[in-house]
Amino acid sequence: MTTNIMETDVLVIGGGAAGTIAAISAAKRGLDVVLIESQGCLGGSRTATGVDTFYGFYTPGEKKQRLVGGIPWEVVTKLYEEGACFERPNTYGAGTGITYDVEKLKVIYEEMAIHAGVKLLYHTYACQVDVQEGNIVGVVIANKSGLTQIKAKCYIDTSGDGDIAARSGAPFEKLKENELQSLTTIFNMGNVNVEEAKKTSHAELVNKMKEGNRSGNYTLPREDGSWHVTPNLGVIQTNMVRVPSVDATDPFALTLAEIEGRKQTQEYVRFLKNEVSGFEHSFLISTSQYIGVRETRRILGEYILTEEDVIHAAKFHDAIACCGAPVEDHTSGVGTRWAYVQGDGFYHIPFRTLIPKKVNNLLVAGRCLSATHGAHASARNSAQCMAMGQAAGVAADHFIQEGKPFSELDFPKLKDALLAQDVILGCLEE
Ligand SMILES: Cc1cc2nc3c(=O)[nH]c(=O)nc-3n(C[C@H](O)[C@H](O)[C@H](O)COP(=O)(O)OP(=O)(O)OC[C@H]3O[C@@H](n4cnc5c(N)ncnc54)[C@H](O)[C@@H]3O)c2cc1C
Repeated sequence: MTTNIMETDVLVIGGGAAGTIAAISAAKRGLDVVLIESQGCLGGSRTATGVDTFYGFYTPGEKKQRLVGGIPWEVVTKLYEEGACFERPNTYGAGTGITYDVEKLKVIYEEMAIHAGVKLLYHTYACQVDVQEGNIVGVVIANKSGLTQIKAKCYIDTSGDGDIAARSGAPFEKLKENELQSLTTIFNMGNVNVEEAKKTSHAELVNKMKEGNRSGNYTLPREDGSWHVTPNLGVIQTNMVRVPSVDATDPFALTLAEIEGRKQTQEYVRFLKNEVSGFEHSFLISTSQYIGVRETRRILGEYILTEEDVIHAAKFHDAIACCGAPVEDHTSGVGTRWAYVQGDGFYHIPFRTLIPKKVNNLLVAGRCLSATHGAHASARNSAQCMAMGQAAGVAADHFIQEGKPFSELDFPKLKDALLAQDVILGCLEE
């Protein structure tokens, strides 16, 4: 039984890359915004799961082009001002990345959210949705105060898993366990002799992993995993662990995945210390606060972005973001599937991919967007998730002002508002 009731203009559910920027964006429009987050920090995959490199800001290829501006680029600018990030070269095919200090990003996200006037609520889960005639009339949250119903004019589901969209009856797709992208526990190691470690090329590292598996001395589920330097001296981060065939919306399966991820971490640490020069005196600093989840539910919205759209650099009249990131598919198996955007090297993410069907006052942003498995493996990059968040925040304001369904909003007006905020929707000259 819920006892408390709270009202707001916009409720944002999940403070990852998409939700943080969605909340900031809506609050900058003067709206009353509550952002709830189950963890004790903002950033989601960007901080709590430890991942420390933004991809998607730039196209891959010979000549890099920046494709994301607006609030996400303000975040990067602040990281540069703090000396807390650097450009990571196009090492593994994902394009130029921006590697940052995770702890600094947490603080920057918080400062920007608080400055914009967002009401933050950590350690809070959205658990139940009340829907009447296709409209959400309240979302029940759980935290140390017990249960509270939050009533908003507009809801933005940025939970990554589309928890609220799914529970409110919006159609979604979730693949079978063995078709979903794998989960990864990110871990950091300290006291690495980085210069020495760099002498082992990625190809040699892969060969060592293969040999380790062949010899029976190690059990390394992913053989093309990598490590990279961080802004902190002697500290490296890995993306090696692979826990396949997990539906991360199943709490029991997710719990087992956490346990498996930590177990694999111990094995990769043993391998690196024993087999890779430069790691001899290193130690495990930490595993991520929670295991990294790449893919769960994707809504089936007003438009479903396809891998064909991605590869053929499709352009849309209702573009809210650009993306040049390749398809990077970590399904089960020891390798990763890559596929690149052709033509002018980038495609549009249409606004319709954020609009769920069957529920009127709800948008999604981030990795639960409406896209096929293949398209999602490109559009889920963090710069694009943040860009979607910015668009969702502005769209929430227009929705409240215009009083029309999201699919009937005056899109040219929305586009003008985004361009006025330095959002990039086509080419840099815009
Ligand atoms: C292992 C891994 C490596 C990656 N590497 C890169 C990379 O190098 N570069 C890159 O650009 N992208 C990378 N990605 C992809 C990218 O980080 C994510 O796709 C993107 O950050 C997703 O952002 P999001 O805000 O949509 O979702 P999430 O980051 O998943 O955020 C969702 C947030 O909602 C909260 N939440 C969930 N459910 C609820 C609920 N019911 N109530 C309240 N809060 C809730 C979560 O705690 C979380 O903070 C990687 C992803 C993973 C998992």
